[in-house]
Amino acid sequence: MNEQSTQLKARLADVHNLNMAGALLDWDQQTYMPSGGVEARAEQRATLSKIAHQLLTNDETSKLLEQAEREQNRDETTTAFLRVARREFDHATKLPAELVEETSRVTSIAQEEWAKARAASDYAHFAPHLEKIVDINQRTAQALGYEEKLYDALLDQYEEGMTCAQLDPIFEQLKEASIPLIGRIAQQPGIDDSILARDYDGETQKAFAERVLDECGFDFNRGRQDLSVHPFCTNFGRDDVRITTRLNTNDLQSALFGSLHEMGHAMYEQGIAPDLDGNVLGGGVSLGVHESQSRLWENLVGRSRAFWKHNYRRLQETFPAQLNDVSEDDFYRAINKVEPSCIRVEADEVTYNLHIILRYEMENDLLEGRLSVADAPAAWNAKMQQYLGVTPPDDAHGILQDVHWSIGAMGYFPTYSLGNILSAQLWNRVLEDAPNLESQIARGDFSVLLPWLRENIHRHGKTYTPKQLVQRATGTSLDVAPYAKYLNDKFGAIYSL
Ligand code: ZN
Repeated sequence: MNEQSTQLKARLADVHNLNMAGALLDWDQQTYMPSGGVEARAEQRATLSKIAHQLLTNDETSKLLEQAEREQNRDETTTAFLRVARREFDHATKLPAELVEETSRVTSIAQEEWAKARAASDYAHFAPHLEKIVDINQRTAQALGYEEKLYDALLDQYEEGMTCAQLDPIFEQLKEASIPLIGRIAQQPGIDDSILARDYDGETQKAFAERVLDECGFDFNRGRQDLSVHPFCTNFGRDDVRITTRLNTNDLQSALFGSLHEMGHAMYEQGIAPDLDGNVLGGGVSLGVHESQSRLWENLVGRSRAFWKHNYRRLQETFPAQLNDVSEDDFYRAINKVEPSCIRVEADEVTYNLHIILRYEMENDLLEGRLSVADAPAAWNAKMQQYLGVTPPDDAHGILQDVHWSIGAMGYFPTYSLGNILSAQLWNRVLEDAPNLESQIARGDFSVLLPWLRENIHRHGKTYTPKQLVQRATGTSLDVAPYAKYLNDKFGAIYSL
């Protein structure tokens, strides 16, 4: 690495460290901080992010970046480093300071008002805030720049290089794969999953989940699990990765599959190559690729027959009074029950993506002015009926359910479905290299799966763009077909289609 690049790297490491310190304050706020600390904490976080922003965007950084970009004979890592540094610098400098400040003010109020509106199922209370958030997102997209659609600029923040022109056909294929399958499943006898709502001690659930995490390969020497209202994964480098879960005594799925999901995110971060850690190349490359890891562990592993072949007897031994009268097969069917419902976060694998497509289409319509904020709840409910055959009983179970818009995030939702699609592509590739994968999992053996993911996805951090990484890992571009086949095969068998 040349002189200017070395200096730039040191500077961006400082920015990175400030951001990591901010993330630790955020983790603490969501886990252990007493509620009285909220105002002081907001000030502390604002100060840290202000200093980080100044350091990233000032003239000296700008000069160093330009000089480094002129240097000849760069190695591959330096080229990648400069590409990501340029992307972060441009993103931070394109948004006018007033817009950043306004976004922070509007969304901190909107978040609180959204929580009240949802509790009272009162959309009119949230509507004026949503109005402002649509406006802010339109101006953000203008400032960031785009070629075809406003949405492209927003989406690119979370999934570099992805556009509506690429997403539209992907989502059409996903609809074509999901909607008829849901219809066929609806013709079959339903699955009784009431066994999952029996009384399961919370701490025992957590202990069981942690034993499973340990077996899968989550490194507890470089990570830990705590409790929070909303589960999440955060990290302060590859060697300190934190996940959280929530315990609900009448829901066996929430802690178990939530933990597996967050573990997938966490193992991605734990698997970044050590030499990329502590700077712009450290960390997962995009939200979609990140979600491919969480979904792979949660669903392709955690909700598979093979996985429960190994784990079900132990779960029964952990909860004998609750599960001794339940067969492994009935348990497997219960955790894979398909039923269209109003709430995205409770959706099964088959219906989940339709919740995402609905949000994607509505965000586009709102941003492009085809849909007014006033008409949005009716549009939401009509799409729910069209795609899932259900109508929310009220707006709390409809348009008010997700936190995302209140925090200003538009263009984020599609990454969940991109993760699902990619998870199946990766799975097929692992199977090509390891045809015995399922029998290994049935023995609790992850000694092939995790190293494969480490080698092909995790260790690269942000060295490649998301598209390059997908191409390298799977040999092809993003493709819905493997996921569609996975859904058809798995649920066709469960529902005897
Ligand atoms: Zn996730």
